[in-house]
Amino acid sequence: MKTRNRVLGESKEITVGSVKLGGANPVAIQSMTNTKTSEVDVTVEQVLELESAGCEIIRVSIPDQESALALANIKSKINIPIVADIHFRAELAVQAINSGADKVRINPGNIGDEAGVRSIIEAAKEAKIPIRIGVNSGSIGKELRSKDLPMSEKLVLSALEYVDLLESMDFFDMALSVKSSSVPDTIDAYRGLAKATRHPLHLGVTESGTLLNGAIRSALGIGVLLEEGIGDTLRVSLAADPVHEVHVAKEILQALGMRAFHPEVIACPTCARCEVDLFSIAEKIEDYLKFSKKTIKVAVMGCVVNGPGEAADADIGLAAGKGKGVIFVQGQSIKTVKEKDFFDELVLAIKGLD
Ligand code: SF4
Repeated sequence: MKTRNRVLGESKEITVGSVKLGGANPVAIQSMTNTKTSEVDVTVEQVLELESAGCEIIRVSIPDQESALALANIKSKINIPIVADIHFRAELAVQAINSGADKVRINPGNIGDEAGVRSIIEAAKEAKIPIRIGVNSGSIGKELRSKDLPMSEKLVLSALEYVDLLESMDFFDMALSVKSSSVPDTIDAYRGLAKATRHPLHLGVTESGTLLNGAIRSALGIGVLLEEGIGDTLRVSLAADPVHEVHVAKEILQALGMRAFHPEVIACPTCARCEVDLFSIAEKIEDYLKFSKKTIKVAVMGCVVNGPGEAADADIGLAAGKGKGVIFVQGQSIKTVKEKDFFDELVLAIKGLD
């Protein structure tokens, strides 16, 4: 279902535990725990909650040795691939790889010296796992930072410098990210990177904000890129419960028609022509379908102007009128029902699709 771009060509495929990224594979959903990784029980509890929300790859921070060692225990209790996020200390990355990490994310610029990077590469080669080079606008090296270039170019140059470094060490199993908290910089940087490399790209707008703002900023940044065929996996960063990150990611992919996860309820915003309490019907139907995995479209429309057309385009539709409405199934109007029966009749029609 992925519409990987026609112009840029497919990215390379890499394997992260049981998930394949890049190539023609579906864009995978990632999230990150916000528990202390060394506290195994709470971390596992959060990962399992994220798994059931639809997370496909989980990342955990490894700030100390205790966390690197805990990774093995966490991994044995979860079902999705685990990525170790490491800054500054190469030995923690090596330890995390030895603990069974399915991928490590590093920013080679802050790992210290080349010997440190080399030790991670050797461990990753032996374990046959990929590395994500994760460059952020906040962590560009001093020299590049001082150059008179747009931030997006600095991000791309920084990422490509590290790609060269890893490739010079004969390591090619990698994904890349160039996140910025600025949506336009993020979009420009990924566009530049997609032209320059075939390595799979991990999309995200960093520090994107609290739930509503963060969701909008991520949907725009990530959505524009996906629509252009750029991106192989994504993480929506929110200053909120990470379960929301997964929900927002799914909505982005479903809205673009790239993946289908759940029913879609569309409802008109209502206007002076609407003569029924449309919002409550739409909300009740949405609530009814909350845990459904059916990938159907239900349209709840307020009047005869756009109502019949939209209702007929959906799998199930209601075009309301004054005190009554018409139920549509797969484009055909099947019956006229009273307003008090709208919800029950829509449910009946949805069940009839089974
Ligand atoms: S469908 Fe009808 S009620 Fe709803 S917004 Fe359009 S014109 Fe107004």
